Amino acid sequence: MPTIIPPSLEAAITHLSKLPTIGRRSAERLAFHLLKAPKTQVEELASALLTMREKLIRCSHCHHICEQDPCPICRDTQRDPKILCVVEDPLDVLAIETAGVFGGKYHILGGCLSPLKGVTASDLNLHTLDARVEQEGVTELILAMNPSVEGEATILFLTDRFRSRGIRVSRIALGLPMGGSLEHADGQTLEHALRGRRDA
Ligand SMILES: [Zn+2]
Repeated sequence: MPTIIPPSLEAAITHLSKLPTIGRRSAERLAFHLLKAPKTQVEELASALLTMREKLIRCSHCHHICEQDPCPICRDTQRDPKILCVVEDPLDVLAIETAGVFGGKYHILGGCLSPLKGVTASDLNLHTLDARVEQEGVTELILAMNPSVEGEATILFLTDRFRSRGIRVSRIALGLPMGGSLEHADGQTLEHALRGRRDA
């Protein structure tokens, strides 16, 4: 049976629908929007996506995304290097930075411990965290994991690993239900979460 959607349009819809939160109907709407938009706008979008992929690297200190290593946050001498906020993902850094309530530095773990998904300690960015704690005079780790079983397991693991070294290990008081996400929390919630942090 011949398809009513031309192959080139179908290809665009298929690729768009692979993006997170974009279902088939949303992908169709986006594709038709791009079809009607000026060609220069589509070229600029394609070019911006490719440039982003080519330019972005990971900071060798904190594993955040950046165009120059170390990243601007690690280079910022106004920030307190003794307090590290440990997060799962660069999106969590964006959420906390947008809220503008944290003056320390970050460390991106790259995920959480998850036996079910086969994520073990060796898959997380722990070597660099160990090195920073030893070399940068870190006095406190604020664990800002998303509320999940994996997040809890990771908090237990990190607390056990670092408290014995005389580091204060605290956790944010996010007040979100299990399965909630840091990146979707508003600024006020994140401010309360950081100010209300308690020992892990
Ligand atoms: Zn960095």
